[in-house]
Amino acid sequence: MPREFQFQVSPEVAANESLLAQHVAKLFQVSPKEIQKVVVVKRSIDARQKAIKINVKANVFLVGEPFVEQKIELPDYPNVANKQEVIVVGAGPAGLFAALQLIELGLKPIVLERGKDVRGRRRDLKAINRDGIVNEDSNYCFGEGGAGTYSDGKLYTRSKKRGDVDRILELLVGFGATPEIMVEAHPHIGTNKLPQIIQDIRERIIACGGQVLFETRVTDFIIKNNEMQGVVIQNGNVISANKVILATGHSARDIFELLHKKGVQIEAKPFALGVRAEHPQELIDQIQYSCDFRGDYLPPAPYSIVKQVNGRGMYSFCMCPGGVIAPCATAPGEVVTNGWSPSKRDQATANSGIVVELKLEDFKPYAKFGPLAGMEFQKAIEQKAWHLAGETQKVPAQRMVDFTQNKVSKDIPQTSYVPGTTSVELGQVFPGFLTQIMREGFVQFGKSMRGYMTNDAVLHAPESRTSSPVRIPRDPISLEHVQIKGLYPCGEGAGYAGGIISAAIDGEKCALKIAACLA
Ligand code: FAD
Repeated sequence: MPREFQFQVSPEVAANESLLAQHVAKLFQVSPKEIQKVVVVKRSIDARQKAIKINVKANVFLVGEPFVEQKIELPDYPNVANKQEVIVVGAGPAGLFAALQLIELGLKPIVLERGKDVRGRRRDLKAINRDGIVNEDSNYCFGEGGAGTYSDGKLYTRSKKRGDVDRILELLVGFGATPEIMVEAHPHIGTNKLPQIIQDIRERIIACGGQVLFETRVTDFIIKNNEMQGVVIQNGNVISANKVILATGHSARDIFELLHKKGVQIEAKPFALGVRAEHPQELIDQIQYSCDFRGDYLPPAPYSIVKQVNGRGMYSFCMCPGGVIAPCATAPGEVVTNGWSPSKRDQATANSGIVVELKLEDFKPYAKFGPLAGMEFQKAIEQKAWHLAGETQKVPAQRMVDFTQNKVSKDIPQTSYVPGTTSVELGQVFPGFLTQIMREGFVQFGKSMRGYMTNDAVLHAPESRTSSPVRIPRDPISLEHVQIKGLYPCGEGAGYAGGIISAAIDGEKCALKIAACLA
């Protein structure tokens, strides 16, 4: 039996297998030659002290003890070509993991995705970055892999169900992600690695007899007597099935509108909205690691911050160390920001959404839109940003201190946002109450993280797609829509997930319910 040990080491020792073995030998009071293998099972950074330490949990095998390298295997996916069909709308994490789970359970998924495959998407990302052209079906939110494909690929979640999280991480490793994601306390994959993983998942679905159809937008649902019968796709063709997983994400406004028009119950849902702040990564490293230089052994530092301002939470969201701010609009005439990082997080700047929680009462000016009020509130801010920045994909921007002092910035330094910035007083983008909270909040952030509040930081507006502005209500036990039998609202768009991992978990949950129902 290996011995499980928990200890702290310097970043240099943690990064070097032989130094680590020497350290463990000392703990064991044996010679390093007697250590056969140190298998690190968890690793996290403890940056509370000036001398930063790495917390390590490891299994230690001495020479002569049985040791077999653990290899993560994918489940034995059967061929489902002739099995009962289930429609999955959307090939984001929720849809793809639902499809894999359906196959595992002996059902045939037909995945319908409005966007292109991961490679085809790249051209459209180039067009929005370089020419400001937004393809409404293929962009940073839409296309194979969903919103998470060209992202930082952070894989942590607030989900307390460790087993569920580990299963998704194992599947990702099985499909080619580095096994390090099972070890790191805050794992991430990176934009450069995610597309291949997504492609491998799709190829497996198809190899098992499932179907994945790209450039296939669902435009209508066929519902009879409150029972799902199938869907209509953009060319007018009908695809029939009486089980439909609806995993279209938080940006599929046409789906929310369609459901509302058809009298399918949906609800407005609070979400959060704010700006995306960008700092030099070096500055964030200095603040977080209390040092002048990060050195060779520590990763670019992340940060996480939350404050209560005027009775509302204002917090960092989807922070990307060493990353880039991306234009994430899904329709012409709007500006939306979010962020991504490559696997090494080696870009010069750190960006993070800094958002304020919204309440349903904030959507009152849009009350006439009923359950779509939050969505219209969101849309109005995105459209205003587009207008104020010059009606291209340029983003309204302001230096951080200038924003808190209500001063238009004389100039905006170059930021990672490729389409470019326009100097705008950001108070013009948001309703007054939000501007006030953010001004006060940044001052508070500056007090907690000394150096954070600086005019070297640039705010980009808005960060508005933090979660869905709509919930598609479902029965908590069957996971079917409360009114439509056979419709399974799933993932972030339906309001049951926030992030890649929780969306994937929700996809699996819906697939399991369908299999149980059919059995
Ligand atoms: P989505 O990923 O939104 O997928 C929905 C899919 O449905 C899309 O592919 C869309 O094209 C398709 N679709 C929509 N309408 C239709 C239709 N009518 N017919 C057919 N198909 C349709 N989360 C993290 O956990 N970590 C991160 O680091 C991270 N970084 C992000 C960076 C960026 C730039 C963005 C945009 C998001 C990021 N997120 C991150 C959020 C994360 O991507 C989402 O939480 C997650 O993808 C939600 O999964 P989902 O499957 O529910 O929906």
